Amino acid sequence: MALVMITNDDGFRAPGLRALAAAVREIARVVVVAPERDSSAASHSLTMRRPVRVRDHGGGVFSVDGTPTDCVILGTNRLLPRRPDLVVSGINPGPNLGDDVNYSGTVSAAVEAATLGIAAFAVSVCDYEPEDYSRPAAIARRIAARILAGGMPPGVLFNVNCPVSPRGVRFTRQGRRAYEGAITELADPWGRPHYWIGGGTPVDDGGPDADTAAVEAGYVSITPLRIDRTSHETLATLAAEWGDLW
Ligand SMILES: [Mg+2]
Repeated sequence: MALVMITNDDGFRAPGLRALAAAVREIARVVVVAPERDSSAASHSLTMRRPVRVRDHGGGVFSVDGTPTDCVILGTNRLLPRRPDLVVSGINPGPNLGDDVNYSGTVSAAVEAATLGIAAFAVSVCDYEPEDYSRPAAIARRIAARILAGGMPPGVLFNVNCPVSPRGVRFTRQGRRAYEGAITELADPWGRPHYWIGGGTPVDDGGPDADTAAVEAGYVSITPLRIDRTSHETLATLAAEWGDLW
């Protein structure tokens, strides 16, 4: 039977993770290795300057006192009985579209798995407080079954975003998403300024074939991402244009 590791960035108690694990358990053996606490926007950070503790909750559920990347490294190398056939990260409450992927702990867990040579995808639902995760969980199970049967190209992961009521699936490229008003300046009781980073209004600029546009139109967006970020177009002309640099 296929072995799937489930992780997330919201913590091992998160309802999205439980829904995902339950859905994938219908088609594979599942082991959960997830952060002890909410690590949203942890990106790809690694805990290197203190020890990392693991708690075994029984029934194939482990929590890690660290980041999503720590979970993938420890899960796939130490905690699972063998290297998994697939790592699935989510289900994150809130979309991970366009530039979000650079901050997302959910997506970074899948990036780490792909870096280790393991098939992986990340799933997010486009609702910050979803009442139920059954639609994205069913879609994740279908994608997992497809990958377990047919594999994935090496060095590639899927970033999946599911609207609340999806009307179909679109295969997309990563769009752009900036946040306006994402810095809030406040004064402490002594009048000294301090800041909150986060929130703000997303401003999308990705074109009609982007992840942002697909979700806006009500479709599940599946974006294949590469761990190799080389700009091949730039590389092709760089030697000619910058050949006199040395
Ligand atoms: Mg999160």
